[in-house]
Amino acid sequence: MSNLHTLSVQEIITGLANKDFSSLELTDHLLSRIDSFDKEINSFITVTADLARKQAKLADDLRAKGDSRPLLGVPMAHKDIFCTQGVLTTCGSKMLYNFVSPYNATIVENIQKAGMVSLGKLNMDEFAMGSDNEKSYYGAVHNPWDLGRVPGGSSGGSAAAVAAGFVPVATGSDTGGSIRQPASFCGITGIKPTYGRVSRYGMIAYASSLDQAGTFGKSALDCAYLLQPMSGYDPKDATSIKTDTPDYITAIHDAQNKLSQEKPLAGLRIGVAKAYFGAGLDSEVEKSIRTALAKYEELGAEIVKVDITDPAVTLATYYLLAPAEASSNLSRYDGVRFGYRCENPKDLHDLYTRSRSEGFGAEVQRRIIMGTYALSAGYFDAYYTKAQKVRRLIVDDFKKAFEKCDIIASPTAPTVAYKLGESLDPASIYLLDVYTIGVNLAGLPALSHPVGQANGLPVGLQLIGKHWAESELLKTAHIYQANTEFHQEMADLVK
Ligand code: GLN
Repeated sequence: MSNLHTLSVQEIITGLANKDFSSLELTDHLLSRIDSFDKEINSFITVTADLARKQAKLADDLRAKGDSRPLLGVPMAHKDIFCTQGVLTTCGSKMLYNFVSPYNATIVENIQKAGMVSLGKLNMDEFAMGSDNEKSYYGAVHNPWDLGRVPGGSSGGSAAAVAAGFVPVATGSDTGGSIRQPASFCGITGIKPTYGRVSRYGMIAYASSLDQAGTFGKSALDCAYLLQPMSGYDPKDATSIKTDTPDYITAIHDAQNKLSQEKPLAGLRIGVAKAYFGAGLDSEVEKSIRTALAKYEELGAEIVKVDITDPAVTLATYYLLAPAEASSNLSRYDGVRFGYRCENPKDLHDLYTRSRSEGFGAEVQRRIIMGTYALSAGYFDAYYTKAQKVRRLIVDDFKKAFEKCDIIASPTAPTVAYKLGESLDPASIYLLDVYTIGVNLAGLPALSHPVGQANGLPVGLQLIGKHWAESELLKTAHIYQANTEFHQEMADLVK
């Protein structure tokens, strides 16, 4: 079969069960596509071809012996922010150019236990700071829809690899939009779960009170398949929450049964906030979003008006708190224990200073400086404490909005993917996060799914849920996708 790279996870599961192809055949096919096309896209930092073939072969053997784990032999790849035992883990930075992790992140372990085959590690903005993947030490990632454009970030490699058909699904992390925004720019689906749903153990920290791991796929159903083994309590992560893990696939199948009804979304209230449609929103993007909302209405949802915090306030809060946490988290990279070390240090101070100056890129240094400033003795109350208080108000505003609705919908990003090398100044790039970061400050789950194109490039709609409402989001997006074809559109190079 020559179209193996276009299959969904569901189709792969069926194909493997029916022996239409083996996991090894599928893995070889994907590896050869990566070999031919990733030179142009640069979505992988490390391809673990031998390891992948070994895992695929093992999966085929186990299947032949009757092992019926649903994801056995299904290929995927990890954002290079997840520690993988014995495999290079760079976090997109020169600082970790030689770091081979001695242990697996919990999610890496769980995905492996589910029998999935990992093809390697995906490119990303350095330490997950960025919105375009141009901040990777390993080079920019090119958007499969238009190689002259960015794929979004920071999980740009993950989004591009799925959109290019290199893997059906991939992991990502989202501190302020790093799953949803690249999903939007690359025309695929991505979900960031509730803070605490997925273990952060072994996920390299950026801003610990905001970071959460999630998934990319061509559809909500594919995202659900990968999210299932990742979800659940982990005693190794103090912020992981002991709560029941829903069966996302069953939830989606239940929704499937409603599809024959004329109004499958009857009873669902979708909140729309004026603040999410303000200045800065591209008019073509807005058109696609409004059309999608009309489709949701046609499917039975009721659109209600809600108020949320002014996104400008949310943006300021995030860009104080995230750099503050980053400055603290990144203090561990000192050139002593692991990672990059400068040549011939004069003394300890020189070792620290030069290792950090030479090992970190400009954006990471900017964030460390901003964060250290916000945390410094004279400014702590004026900046950090104040931002924490505003964060509480943002959480309360979401709570109030959710009294009137079940899900809040908004554009995922104000624009489509912009041109590589456009050299936007840092503040204009921060503005791209305007619709996504509130979700992280409030710890809520949210997903982005494609709803059409503006000027020939994909547009994503963001659905924000109440805490722990991942199933609700996945079901809702699934019903939309079962009634539309935007998620099936593919970049030319995949066809
Ligand atoms: N673009 C945002 C930032 O640079 C979000 C990044 C992320 O979610 N990791 O901080």
